[in-house]
Amino acid sequence: MKRPIIAGNWKMYKTLSEGQSFVENIVNLTLDIDEVQVIFCPPFPTLFHIVEILKNSSFKVGSQNCHWEIEGAFTGETSPKMLASLGVDFVLLGHSERRHIFIEPDEWINKKVQAAMSFGLSTVLCIGETLQKRENGLTEIVLTEQLQKGLMGVDKPEKLIVAYEPVWAIGTGVVAEGKQIEEAHELISNWLKDKFKKNEVIEIPVLYGGSVNLENVEDLVSIPGVDGFLIGGASLKEESFSGIIHKVENYYKGL
Ligand code: PEP
Repeated sequence: MKRPIIAGNWKMYKTLSEGQSFVENIVNLTLDIDEVQVIFCPPFPTLFHIVEILKNSSFKVGSQNCHWEIEGAFTGETSPKMLASLGVDFVLLGHSERRHIFIEPDEWINKKVQAAMSFGLSTVLCIGETLQKRENGLTEIVLTEQLQKGLMGVDKPEKLIVAYEPVWAIGTGVVAEGKQIEEAHELISNWLKDKFKKNEVIEIPVLYGGSVNLENVEDLVSIPGVDGFLIGGASLKEESFSGIIHKVENYYKGL
């Protein structure tokens, strides 16, 4: 069985002191956790300090983005080499806010995926359809295209994670229905199995993201094909984030 993953995407929230006390408190609130792999994805300026706090723990740290070049004249950017040198283990790529607000095309996302993987970072490729595409019956086409383009040239899926995040469910309070999530995860898993069939062990976790909270997580965790969650809003509050971690832990322990 794949180890369940819960990644908290802080987006552009939390100063250094807020972030430090937050992770310290979450660690203390979840000392009994051993099934769930928890990942904090803070903003760039606080990454180093959060890595330092967590270096002797089972918690991991992820970046919310990276550039595809190793170094160079790219003002404002951060390379995967720099992230790896900080002790960052994960990187989110292709998040819907990067795709839609910063107009990142699949071609860039693909270059970032390849660069991040070459530095040994676990790469969370985020994909998802807009409401308009879903209403026009194009969900399957959108997801397949984002997978194809995002993973072009990737032969070894080691350390790859895919997050299915319907754009209309992110930060809206509208969670996708169980059937919609199950269908999307099945499509993604089948596509991944087909692409990487030459690899003997295919263990690519597929996460769900989009308005996950303390109230709905118990229903979501039992949906077939859901290997964990990428969480925005509910990852910013101690009570909701630690509560979600406990509920997922209990589910996997059969409690
Ligand atoms: C996200 O930012 O990836 C996300 C899923 O946000 P939220 O949980 O707030 O919908």
